[in-house]
Amino acid sequence: MTAHGNAASDFKDRLVFDLERGELRDGPVRYLLIRQDTLAGLFQRLPMPAQRAALQAFAQAVEERGGQSIDRYQEFTPPDRLVALVAKTASQLGWGSWRFDRSVPGQLALEVENSPFRELAGDLREPACAPISGMLRALAARILGGPVTLDEVICAGAGGACCRFRAQLASAEASEGKHNPQSATVQSSADRGA
Ligand SMILES: [Zn+2]
Repeated sequence: MTAHGNAASDFKDRLVFDLERGELRDGPVRYLLIRQDTLAGLFQRLPMPAQRAALQAFAQAVEERGGQSIDRYQEFTPPDRLVALVAKTASQLGWGSWRFDRSVPGQLALEVENSPFRELAGDLREPACAPISGMLRALAARILGGPVTLDEVICAGAGGACCRFRAQLASAEASEGKHNPQSATVQSSADRGA
């Protein structure tokens, strides 16, 4: 099997449990399993405004590293199948059940059921799924062809039935002439806490 063929398989099939070295690896990328409630506990222990700042940093780190993963996926995935591949990989990572909607030109919308990040904001009851926001920002910039604004419009951690995100080309939003100052959800959350 070629490296290319291996890369084209599902994430769950590529993931190698190297018990000798004590690591999980997808090709060059090391992964880490951690209890969901441990991760939530970390964020919930942070005082304000550090909690919002940490969520923002989490989103930015996922945007950067997740974007590198997307670039790798693009080497073996046709553009019209990239969104479906990201949804499938998210499910295999345990990041909830993702459904994308591209029906509105210049937008990439995402609905996530069962987000593992919904409790990161704890009692704040604010949109909490910063890692998903980061991944969607990285994907949407590549799909839509430019920088995007990003909202987690509804979050299960803030009383929603599920989490809904909307990424929109920054240029498209500007041309609509109704820029929403809340658009960069993670950014604006951090700013409010600063
Ligand atoms: Zn959420």
